[in-house]
Amino acid sequence: MVDVKALMQAAKNTTALSCEERMALYNSRRGDLMGYDCPICRNKGFVFLMKDGYEYTMECECMEKRRGKWRLQKSGLQDMAERYRFETYEAKTSWQKSILAAAECFCEEGEGWFYIGGQVGAGKTHICTAIANRLMLQGKGVRYMIWTEEATKLKALKTDDEGYEREINKWKTAEVLYIDDFLKTRNGVLPTDGDINLAFEIINARYNNRTLRTIFSGERGLNEIMELDEAMGSRIYQRCGKYKLKIGWGEGRNYRTREEGVV
Ligand SMILES: [Zn+2]
Repeated sequence: MVDVKALMQAAKNTTALSCEERMALYNSRRGDLMGYDCPICRNKGFVFLMKDGYEYTMECECMEKRRGKWRLQKSGLQDMAERYRFETYEAKTSWQKSILAAAECFCEEGEGWFYIGGQVGAGKTHICTAIANRLMLQGKGVRYMIWTEEATKLKALKTDDEGYEREINKWKTAEVLYIDDFLKTRNGVLPTDGDINLAFEIINARYNNRTLRTIFSGERGLNEIMELDEAMGSRIYQRCGKYKLKIGWGEGRNYRTREEGVV
């Protein structure tokens, strides 16, 4: 990073120049920010200004763009975010239209969770990624978790208290967390107690902090999660409110949606 103080000092010491010349000289210097070539700040991230006889720096407008890119890199959704947008979601049938409408509506709300369960290949990941991306554009910090991968990593850390806490805290505290394939297991066997306990630890921490938002997609419907563990299922159920969706097989091999009922 550029040392602003040192450069301010250096600019001040160049007494042969007028204030305006010093500002222009300093603004002409290049910074080392990557990813976007800004003609305004020349990749420093800020510009020098002179106002009422004082020199000061102001953040460059490119920083908003840069933060968006950094958020995307950090989220883990970089590869998917471009493909899976609301604009590219195919909404031909009524069930697709209702999913899209619910997802877009969810993004306008300031709190709450979103759960979509059901058939593989029905666009659940697409719609959830589009939500995550929209929230990211609203300036939220988003993290993407593929349940099977992260659960395996976390369970392997169980004997390393410090490492476990550090890793699980990322998922407990993310402003927005998207969990893909929630509680998925190999060959459809039931999740183990270890899986359930791990999921509960994350869900409960997020449940206790109202400002955190969680998005779930998975083959299991929310009623199945309730059957597996009522304490966890009921927390998800409560936070989701009207955003509980399930895609099932309907007549003519079409998917249909229905709101999940409590079992
Ligand atoms: Zn700039």
